[in-house]
Amino acid sequence: MRPACARIDLSALRHNLTIARQHAATARVMAVIKANGYGHGLVRVATALEGADAFGVACMEEAQALREAGMAGRIVLLEGFFAADELASIARLDLDLVVHHDWQIEALERWSDKQPLRLWLKVDSGMHRLGFAPERAVVARERLLHSGVCRGVPCLMTHFANADVREDRTTERQIERFNSATEGLPGPRSLANSAGLLGFADSRADWVRPGIMLYGVSPFAQGDGRALDLRPAMTLTTRLIAINRYRAGDCLGYGGSWCCPEPMTVGVAAIGYGDGYPRHAPSGTPVLVGGQRSQLLGRVSMDMVMVDLRGLPEVRIGDPVTLWGEGLPVEEVARHAGTIAYELLCNVSQRVRMEEAGGD
Ligand SMILES: *Cc1c(COP(=O)(O)O)cnc(C)c1O
Repeated sequence: MRPACARIDLSALRHNLTIARQHAATARVMAVIKANGYGHGLVRVATALEGADAFGVACMEEAQALREAGMAGRIVLLEGFFAADELASIARLDLDLVVHHDWQIEALERWSDKQPLRLWLKVDSGMHRLGFAPERAVVARERLLHSGVCRGVPCLMTHFANADVREDRTTERQIERFNSATEGLPGPRSLANSAGLLGFADSRADWVRPGIMLYGVSPFAQGDGRALDLRPAMTLTTRLIAINRYRAGDCLGYGGSWCCPEPMTVGVAAIGYGDGYPRHAPSGTPVLVGGQRSQLLGRVSMDMVMVDLRGLPEVRIGDPVTLWGEGLPVEEVARHAGTIAYELLCNVSQRVRMEEAGGD
């Protein structure tokens, strides 16, 4: 059996939800579990986080998988619907729907088989990706109320562009713009992703929408989850399948991008970009070999990486290698690889075996 394994710590997921709740104070918590639970397994994560007040997903297929697994609570489609022919299923599955564009309002107005849906109106407070311009929020909301499909009043929401940088003033401006665009309108409000929740107390409102922090990862550009009392939910490991000795000047792997400066021992670990480990991780990217810190050497291959065994004479073939997780923050690996932890977690591929720990 291939030794590459992602161990998912269910107790860490639950712990991180508790931390999110502490920061949320009285706000309700929508646990964002799109993209296969940020790579941790959609139903597995939903089951561990069943105490959340709602789940946020990106599409109907994800929501349907949750319903089929018996999740009866609220599920919010964060991008709304992609085509009008989804509306019947959305009603049947009793999903909450984000409405972010005129074409969606028109489709709801034209829907012949109208059924009441819980709607969220997305306001663009400055990110300029999805949502109605602030000055159009009132009119869009009126249209939803008169469309004949709105159950109760819409929840008003927006999304932050720069909340991962605490010093960035644009988040405060987005909060102000959203508050003034929605002032006096009845209905709950939702602004905060993980970074908003942890960094901007004014953004908590009625619903918070943490994603990345639930997986134990800091949403901020600096630091890692430990300082926020978060615990990593995924630990990606494999094993050493070879230990080889090379001479000074021997160059390793494809392209020979790293050459031994001295006679030395090099380990080969069975994991590569075919497993979702980032190919752009350069020599020097940290790994743990038998629990001790070491580094990647040479280029990442599809199925293997090479690791530095200088100073680790007791290491043997079969010893565990940790790529990220417990003892090695994924944030740190992401910085070396020139990406963000979100991408690394989402990219763990199908062939990596998933194991659960920390269940009751
Ligand atoms: C993905 C997403 C979130 C969660 O963001 P994190 O940075 O992972 O906390 C919240 N709200 C919306 C609309 C999203 O798409």
